Amino acid sequence: MNASKLAAAHEPDAEKAFFVADLSQVYKQHMRWKACLPEIQPFYAVKCNPDPYVIRLLAALGAGFDCASNGEISQVLNVGGIDPSRIIFANPCKALSFVRNAAKKGVDTMTFDNADELYKIARGHPRAKVVVRILTDDSKSLCAFGIKFGAPLVTVPGLLAKARELNLDVVGVSFHVGSGCYDPTVYTDAIRRARAVFNMGKEAGYTFKLLDVGGGFEDRLFEQAAAVLTEAIDLYFPDRREIKVIAEPGRFYVSKAFRLAAHIIARRAPLIDPAAAAHCQEQVAEPNSDQPKVMYYINDGVYGAFNCILFDHQIVHPYVLSMKGSFHIASSEPQHVSSVWGPTCDSIDCVCPKTTLPSALQVGDWLGFDNMGAYTSCAASQFNGFEVSNVIYTAGGIGAGEIRSVLAAFADDGHGL
Ligand SMILES: *Cc1c(COP(=O)(O)O)cnc(C)c1O
Repeated sequence: MNASKLAAAHEPDAEKAFFVADLSQVYKQHMRWKACLPEIQPFYAVKCNPDPYVIRLLAALGAGFDCASNGEISQVLNVGGIDPSRIIFANPCKALSFVRNAAKKGVDTMTFDNADELYKIARGHPRAKVVVRILTDDSKSLCAFGIKFGAPLVTVPGLLAKARELNLDVVGVSFHVGSGCYDPTVYTDAIRRARAVFNMGKEAGYTFKLLDVGGGFEDRLFEQAAAVLTEAIDLYFPDRREIKVIAEPGRFYVSKAFRLAAHIIARRAPLIDPAAAAHCQEQVAEPNSDQPKVMYYINDGVYGAFNCILFDHQIVHPYVLSMKGSFHIASSEPQHVSSVWGPTCDSIDCVCPKTTLPSALQVGDWLGFDNMGAYTSCAASQFNGFEVSNVIYTAGGIGAGEIRSVLAAFADDGHGL
């Protein structure tokens, strides 16, 4: 509302699109995690949304972190008070200099899925605790990783023999069922494979003590995924006294926590001109009525936060946030079929090819988008000179008190100052 007023008062940039991050959602997801998977320690996948307040809150809540680069490792360690043992370097294909940097920073746990990686780790961080990332069925997910990462099981004995020869300490197994997993039953097969690899480890003379079940957790299917996982772990790893189980959730923690507000900066609608219509019969002929009649242009697009449409295969659903300065939109408002576009000069910059929006919607009104926390602003570019949208934070209603006390206790311990 404030943004609308400032925009009306010609405040420069007042109409800029912005995120609202509700940290209580992150907190709630953590509580859900602890309730459903009490035995599995989450290592938040930083790449999903490296927001500093999210990282700080999760650090204060005791989560670990899955980092994939020097930059992510620095970002986590720079918070202060996070022991490097709370980081897993979960990128199976790292530059040698990154391996050396991890050694210097005390980040010892790292994944591999090929022999070259073992040679690099032996050179750059011989004391590392290495984890073999195995291939699992990722066909039931939005973003499959199997074409790029994961050792097929038949290759694992050879890799373990090579690790022995190089004197490396292999401590466990990891996998990733694919990001945005929509069929949680795949976890059963993944855990079965992990069990097989634990047995291969035994044969190679290792006693594995780490089982990393990766990410892929969807908000909507979380309880179901947790039940499948728990059952599979009980079945294949009945004795867990010497085994630590961790996971690398990303999307699950942040997707719902961020919403985006975008301003309608332009509109293309047919001119309603009876004189012209009389001249040109073709124009009056009722056009295909389910085709978008009005195009709205907003100030964030697929080169910005909505890169999730291209890279993360998302479909977004705009809703009216405010119209003519009011948050109240009557359900009886007449609607028409519309399309929504980003601000750049590229025609690929389409946010929503077809949706219904109120006919009275105009330049200056605001659209809202939910579930914009995962794989959005972290991959946004400034193509065409459009800045990445800012974030406004709230601790939300429920849980606000807990969040404040968790963060205050973290700061009192001398962390993150
Ligand atoms: C991206 C990624 C994750 C996070 O996946 P989500 O589906 O967001 O939970 C976890 N681990 C690794 C190795 C990843 O590459």
